[in-house]
Amino acid sequence: MKYDFLIVGAGLYGSIFAHEATKRGKKCLVIDKRNHIAGNIYCEKMEGINVHRYGAHIFHTSNKKIWDYVNSFVEFNRYTNCPVANYKGELFNLPFNMNTFYQLWKVKTPEEAKAKIAEQILASGIRNPQNLEEQALSLVGGDIYYKLIKEYTEKQWGRKAKDLPAFIIKRLPIRYTFDNNYFNDTYQGIPIGGYTEITNKMLEGIDVELNVDFFQERERLTGLADKIVYTGMIDEYFGYKFGTLEYRSLKFEHEVHDTQNYQGNAVVNYTDAETPYTRIIEHKHFEFGTQEKTIITKEYPQEWTKKDEPYYPVNDDMNDALFKKYKALSKAESNVIFGGRLADYKYYDMHHVVGLALKRVAEEFKEVNVFE
Ligand code: FAD
Ligand code: UDP
Repeated sequence: MKYDFLIVGAGLYGSIFAHEATKRGKKCLVIDKRNHIAGNIYCEKMEGINVHRYGAHIFHTSNKKIWDYVNSFVEFNRYTNCPVANYKGELFNLPFNMNTFYQLWKVKTPEEAKAKIAEQILASGIRNPQNLEEQALSLVGGDIYYKLIKEYTEKQWGRKAKDLPAFIIKRLPIRYTFDNNYFNDTYQGIPIGGYTEITNKMLEGIDVELNVDFFQERERLTGLADKIVYTGMIDEYFGYKFGTLEYRSLKFEHEVHDTQNYQGNAVVNYTDAETPYTRIIEHKHFEFGTQEKTIITKEYPQEWTKKDEPYYPVNDDMNDALFKKYKALSKAESNVIFGGRLADYKYYDMHHVVGLALKRVAEEFKEVNVFE
């Protein structure tokens, strides 16, 4: 065999695996069906600005070892994500915090805010939440739910909030401080020079073939390596034999504007149903850019078909049950390692993917995982 590992997918998972296996003396071939490496963290330079081509990416983790690991490839800046929500022209700070509560109700102290939310939760009458809508009403009450959650969520997922699992909004924290930081993690930032630099560094000296779809050349590619690391869609690997897993897709519209500052913030969410996009990203603000022009991206949620990019797994009961059947099949493929967001059918953040890839490397090379 020419290679020890064929790695399908040059995203974060595939790049880490390739890098670590190469460091241990193995020969890897990385392929990707796209015309670039980095998967969804890919940044493209336009007008001197690093444009997050597949949506805003903010790295955050509380695991110092994972933070140090990514910083060993590229230095990160001090960016802190503080999105703003626009509901029918009114602006609110996110995540839900004392600023938001002041904007909604003019309450000024944590005690007043807590009383207001408690009153609204009581009015909702929900004791045992069964879905996203009930979960939200029982956590934050009606005012926040109807202005900042319901319409955004239904637009994002193309489904009624009553038909969605509650865990989707568990990551929206509530805080009784004037703190607009979207994440609770200890470490956060954006790689200076953009994310592509991380995978560029990881894949240095490794054979990479772009515009190559594994399924178009399965026989040739499988014959090249002893083992495969597969980071594509798990149901596609098995020819969709039990059925197709559902995803949400997105359409990104990038616009160049002849102004220095379009919206004053990297991320503005449009939480009403009338605006067809969910958010506008102004990329320069991720890196405190001072360029003459600016680039914005509007993010339109879409139903996924096999022609589209699968961005968000829809982890409801039906899809999770189908995934389990594929997962069981994957265990019998002794020469294939399945990993990453698409093969695990889970909405992982980047730090999850880094942790899982490093864990799998340790298992493969029979080492202790020092990143836990
Ligand atoms: P991917 O990046 O999807 O890489 C898989 C690669 O495999 C792709 O390049 C694909 O082209 C290739 N591939 C698939 N099938 C084949 C095939 N048959 N043949 C050849 N190649 C194939 N995470 C955060 O931590 N913070 C954020 O702010 C954040 N924001 C996000 C915003 C959006 C809109 C999205 C979609 C994701 C966001 N994420 C964020 C998650 C982050 O993108 C993922 O955790 C990470 O990129 C997953 O890496 P991966 O290698 O598993 O998958
Ligand atoms: N969400 C919401 N209002 C917002 C932002 C998010 O209701 O202004 C909900 C929505 O259901 C979304 C989930 O929270 O799917 C997670 O959103 P987040 O922006 O954290 O995740 P991302 O879409 O970037 O993965």
